[in-house]
Amino acid sequence: MKTVSDAWNTPKNPLDALAQLVRESAVLLTEVAEDVDPTTIRMLDKTMRDVVDMQSELDARKNAAIGLRERLTKGEVIADPVTIWEKDAHRDIDKYQQKTTRQKYANNKTYRDYKEEIWSVTHEGGMPPLKSMIPAEEGDDSDDDDDVEVGGMVVTFRDPITKGWLEDPVTSKKCHHSYSRASMHAYLPSARDVKKCPAAGCGENVSRADLEADENLARQVRNAQRREQEQERGKRNRKGTMIVDDSDDDIVE
Ligand SMILES: [Zn+2]
Repeated sequence: MKTVSDAWNTPKNPLDALAQLVRESAVLLTEVAEDVDPTTIRMLDKTMRDVVDMQSELDARKNAAIGLRERLTKGEVIADPVTIWEKDAHRDIDKYQQKTTRQKYANNKTYRDYKEEIWSVTHEGGMPPLKSMIPAEEGDDSDDDDDVEVGGMVVTFRDPITKGWLEDPVTSKKCHHSYSRASMHAYLPSARDVKKCPAAGCGENVSRADLEADENLARQVRNAQRREQEQERGKRNRKGTMIVDDSDDDIVE
């Protein structure tokens, strides 16, 4: 099993590393403790949202700097570039801050990966749309379907061809269905092959070029497998030990 400290072993964007650390902590906690204190879960959730907010602010500052550099490269004379940079960045930062909770997080990949992974530790099958888990606020249309939400798809951890657990999963960029890598290589023997997506009810075509490795899904599959094994063990233990040890009550000192 991966440990929390793994997050620091791969050099990457520190915010990604922080997100990974929070995600792994939450998963470990959910796995080891029957009833995790809801305050702790709320605290981790808040940290994850802070990461998303910080990323958005840093993106705004970076984009403002890129815009400024373009203007300077074109020969424009800018008297006070720092003030302009601040002003430009704040236009985007303010826009972000006006967003509702749903608009900020429901379609954010970092946040969705986090919620999906915790979900896979404690639940059977895929997570319902994140939008439905974040209460509507003023400014959220009740029938706001402008954003196509990938997280709203019914996620399955089974390969549509072998019906076994997904192994080394790959996901189609076109229809977001997922398959085991080996299954798809057998289904599409040549890089030129274009065939119908094997997922039930899907009408999209798929070729090897549409397939992308899906690390997040791989983690969810591992969590689901682990959970199923634990449930099996739990069932056996209950059958095996019908005499419950309640001797603690009888201890007289
Ligand atoms: Zn499909």
